[in-house]
Amino acid sequence: MSNESLTIAIDGPASSGKSTVAKRIAADLNLIYVDTGAMYRALTYKALKDHVNIKDEKALLELLENTIISFEKTEDGQRVFIDGKEVTEDIRQNNVTNTVSIVAAHARVRSELVKRQQKMAQNNGVVMDGRDIGTVVLPDSDLKIFLVASVKERAERRHKENKSKGIFSDLEQLKKDIAERDYKDSTRDTSPLKQADDAVRIDTTKLSIDEVVKTIENLISTKLK
Ligand code: C5P
Repeated sequence: MSNESLTIAIDGPASSGKSTVAKRIAADLNLIYVDTGAMYRALTYKALKDHVNIKDEKALLELLENTIISFEKTEDGQRVFIDGKEVTEDIRQNNVTNTVSIVAAHARVRSELVKRQQKMAQNNGVVMDGRDIGTVVLPDSDLKIFLVASVKERAERRHKENKSKGIFSDLEQLKKDIAERDYKDSTRDTSPLKQADDAVRIDTTKLSIDEVVKTIENLISTKLK
């Protein structure tokens, strides 16, 4: 197996460090990074902006079918576009974060986005992060990782990140929001957040980003031998 055809699935709950770790691994191994959460976020953002009812699956699907979501690689990650317009920062706003799980619970919306995600991995080596990558999107991936961390640790990380960006954030509220998103993502009927049977579980609560990246890259090296 060569590097170029590697597919790596990284799943886990909100703010468990998936995207930071996935970006680093993709850069180190020269693989494409696909942030599937950004796709659910992009659709949510557009629905809110266009006043489409996010509880209406049919309306959302119609909106999605008329929406191009694309990525552009940058030095330190990637930019996200909806129909050619950059929305990288917009899709991280609280109103999107707190409603995206409602959009992501619709089966037909998921099936359309899963199709697009599978296409991105068709002829490419990828590191893809999300909630259902190992279970649904890339069930045959070469390595499946399931990242977890305590709610307290995840809220504190997010709080620090917000502060460093000059964004106001309330730690106790963050804990509540994260726990609520975990609950919604894990209990939905279609492709709930769940560890794949053959995934390696890594608890990042007491680990640094470097340590997590190293652990995963060691697992990849073993695979490539
Ligand atoms: O990864 P991120 O926190 O940006 O994901 C935002 C939301 O998108 C998740 O809380 C979840 O509701 C949804 N999602 C999903 N399946 C994925 C990726 C994200 O349902 N593969």
